[in-house]
Amino acid sequence: MSQPTRAELLRSLAARPQRDLVVIGGGATGLGVAVDAAARGLSVALVEAEDFAKGTSSRATKLVHGGVRYLAQGNLKLVREALRERDVLMRIASHLVQPLQFVLPVYGAKGRWLERFVYGSGLVLYDLLAGKAGYGKTEFLSPAAALERAAGLQPRGLAGAICYWDGQFDDARLALALARTAIARGAIVLNRCAAVGLEHEGGRIAGVVAEDRESGARHVLKARCVINATGVWVDAVRRMDRAVKGDLVAPSQGVHLVVDRGFLPGGRAVLVPKTRDGRVLFAVPWLGSTILGTTDTPRHDLAAEPEPFREEVDFILSEASRYLAKAPGPADVRSVWVGLRPLVRPPHEAGEDTKTLSREHTVRVERSGLVSVTGGKWTTYRAMAEDVLECAMEHELLPRRAAGVTQTLALVGAPARSDVPLGEPPGLHLYGTEAPLVRGLPGAARELAPGLTEAMVRFAARFEYARTVEDVLARRSRLLFLDAKLAASAAAPVAAVLEEELGAPFDAAASAAAFRALAAQYCRLPQT
Ligand SMILES: Cc1cc2nc3c(=O)[nH]c(=O)nc-3n(C[C@H](O)[C@H](O)[C@H](O)COP(=O)(O)OP(=O)(O)OC[C@H]3O[C@@H](n4cnc5c(N)ncnc54)[C@H](O)[C@@H]3O)c2cc1C
Repeated sequence: MSQPTRAELLRSLAARPQRDLVVIGGGATGLGVAVDAAARGLSVALVEAEDFAKGTSSRATKLVHGGVRYLAQGNLKLVREALRERDVLMRIASHLVQPLQFVLPVYGAKGRWLERFVYGSGLVLYDLLAGKAGYGKTEFLSPAAALERAAGLQPRGLAGAICYWDGQFDDARLALALARTAIARGAIVLNRCAAVGLEHEGGRIAGVVAEDRESGARHVLKARCVINATGVWVDAVRRMDRAVKGDLVAPSQGVHLVVDRGFLPGGRAVLVPKTRDGRVLFAVPWLGSTILGTTDTPRHDLAAEPEPFREEVDFILSEASRYLAKAPGPADVRSVWVGLRPLVRPPHEAGEDTKTLSREHTVRVERSGLVSVTGGKWTTYRAMAEDVLECAMEHELLPRRAAGVTQTLALVGAPARSDVPLGEPPGLHLYGTEAPLVRGLPGAARELAPGLTEAMVRFAARFEYARTVEDVLARRSRLLFLDAKLAASAAAPVAAVLEEELGAPFDAAASAAAFRALAAQYCRLPQT
């Protein structure tokens, strides 16, 4: 397979004096923009300061969904758009996105008919909005049928359940597929390369100063259009521009806890639509484990690795214990991770209740011509990319090219469809059409950790631009997110393989030690 190495991409970055577009940020939003622009034939460079999906885009609940919660808020436009995008993703990334059945339990005699009616009719509307792109009809289940579908549910007081369909995915691997698809279409997409300044000419934006975090070398990337897609960090980049007013984003933190699959046997997810404080709670089978979450807490310090608050962990464990037959406790938690939602701040927003802030995205063009895009959700990254490029074309920052190319553009690894559900432990099935290539690399039979072979690490270094132990164990394999202790124990063997692949500048001992420190954080619950 021919794919440029990072060194070759860096050389091309320095060689080209001018391009159509520079994208800042390699999460779902920026990568989606790069794929779309490159697919339309524009010349594109994308710079990501850390690693692809290192920010929010590796920390989602892993749902490709219309958003039942937004249905409850009456936001039909958002739901319809997301359901359409769910269908597109299922086709263009069939190896990483799959349908998933959800069980919504109803408890107690009081109000159970009303609850069933309200949630049931909402979910029937959800089916109608999905139309032909739906995966199955919403069903009303007796308590016995509910327990048959989701054996992990608390049987005491169970009055029945509603069963509906949605989708799930591997977020970080989808981000990698986007990065590699953009590269295959001629874009230069680089991790460990940060935007450290903006270039202006006559008061207009004219490019980006990018710093290669590995060598320290700086490059001036001239471009007609610069798109700032840095998620919760969008305002920091806006401040590199001239005289920007106000903040676009009100960040909100969401915590997930991962426990064994034994807490939710059967392969279906559980949605609790209204917890004691009015939030939703998910229990989702994912890569052989169960994800519990999430929370919604305003957060202003924008750490790369935010830590959970004690109340958030307590909330998830105590709510999960109310709805699951086997109550999870602190000792059952295999990994805890935190993501920051880039919620769009209304122009005159004063309050702090992030649950009521918009889940929709926003596009802003500054007077200088800098374009910022933020908000939205993973599911709608492709629609966001179309919107932001349309906006840039309307402002004559980019030459006009027709939209819609990405609706049918299979991402790298597609269109293989696997019979293995995403709820099952990780393996070669996640590589789609590239599985034979991985199998052909040295060490295909040597497991370094469950679901991670030596060959996969070599593949990560050769084709997926992995530069550190963390890149491999957090985002190429998802072991850090599944079992942080186990991931820490794989650091040394992974570092040894990376050393062979990456050569001299790679410091195996330092990379393994840095990863072990990070994994210790993912094991640690705030003290009670
Ligand atoms: C707890 C939680 C659960 C969620 N669950 C779901 C879900 O189940 N389904 C769903 O559809 N959506 C979900 N979302 C929403 C979704 O994850 C986000 O909307 C999406 O990942 C945001 O992507 P982004 O690219 O805008 O931001 P990010 O992924 O954060 O990407 C921004 C990138 O910009 C980089 N960057 C910052 N500054 C610079 C710079 N100066 N130079 C270069 N790069 C820079 C960062 O390193 C980062 O990688 C969830 C979000 C959270 C927080």
